Amino acid sequence: MLQDNFGRRFYYLRLSVTDICNYRCNYCLPEGIGCGRSLEGENPLSVAEVGTLVRAFASLGTEKVRLTGGEPSLRKDLVPMLEAVRASDKIRRLAITTNGYRLPSQIDDWHRAGLDQVNVSIDSLDPAQFRHITGHDRLDKALAGLDRALALGVDTKVNAVLMRKYNLAELDNFLAWIRETPVTLRFIELMRTGDNHEFFASNHVSGSDIETLLLREGWEQVIRTRDAGPAREYFHEDYAGRIGLITPYGKDFCASCNRLRISAQGKLHLCLFADQGFDMREIIAAGDSDALAAHIRELIVDKTAGHQLHEGFTGATRNLAMLGG
Ligand code: SAM
Repeated sequence: MLQDNFGRRFYYLRLSVTDICNYRCNYCLPEGIGCGRSLEGENPLSVAEVGTLVRAFASLGTEKVRLTGGEPSLRKDLVPMLEAVRASDKIRRLAITTNGYRLPSQIDDWHRAGLDQVNVSIDSLDPAQFRHITGHDRLDKALAGLDRALALGVDTKVNAVLMRKYNLAELDNFLAWIRETPVTLRFIELMRTGDNHEFFASNHVSGSDIETLLLREGWEQVIRTRDAGPAREYFHEDYAGRIGLITPYGKDFCASCNRLRISAQGKLHLCLFADQGFDMREIIAAGDSDALAAHIRELIVDKTAGHQLHEGFTGATRNLAMLGG
């Protein structure tokens, strides 16, 4: 089992399959991906390389893989990629994070390929506000895709980044929605990245304030599994859905870290806010998962105890589309 110097074990791999996104979320990529970049991205990992990576991580104890990006559904070979992950029988859980744009047309194929969980980013339930945040009038698409995912029995979660000026006033709407909708709604505390300092300063809201409110309203905490993501989840008997809180600025957030990240070009990032990724492309491309696993074991000793977001250090991370959040 892969373990770092602080005794943390890594059951969960977040694999970016492209650093390109077609949305222009105001907190992430407000100017879009920039001119001249193709929607395929620059030399992203191939399906075979994803297979090699997943075999290596599975041999080190990884049980859950999430495909993320950029926007993973921009990859034309996403279905074979899902199948390549599923081919490792030690991977018990296969998830994807998406902006939902292609969800209605693709969720059936993803499900057939073995997808267990989908996280759809929906920062507002108001169509105009959704457009204002993302640059696209596509809330209806995300919601239609989400309904289809639920109908197929896919574990469906919604990511909403908490923002003082853009959706904090919608908290009651979100709660009313999950009274009847059986999704886990995960409120993510806005994180400061290299590119969003001013936006962060005027929009960051502490997740612990929301938590205090939930506890007062009778919400109870769900027990975590060892491959669980960073969210603390809450349930309430009057609600079909659950609430998750992701509070990277909270006390001890990094102590329970069980995740590693791979960039779309095959770099290992030991932390979302690390100073650098370790380039493993040559070993990945060679297709030898044993050699790759041995290399990852050597690199894990460099994982630090925690990020330094509190001190304003955001490492090499200009925005989360680079690595998938
Ligand atoms: N394109 C996909 C999507 O829209 O979900 C996957 C990539 S996106 C970077 C993954 C998640 O990170 C999304 O839920 C997004 O809202 C979140 N995210 C991006 N920038 C963030 C920031 N600065 N703070 C907190 N969450 C952020």
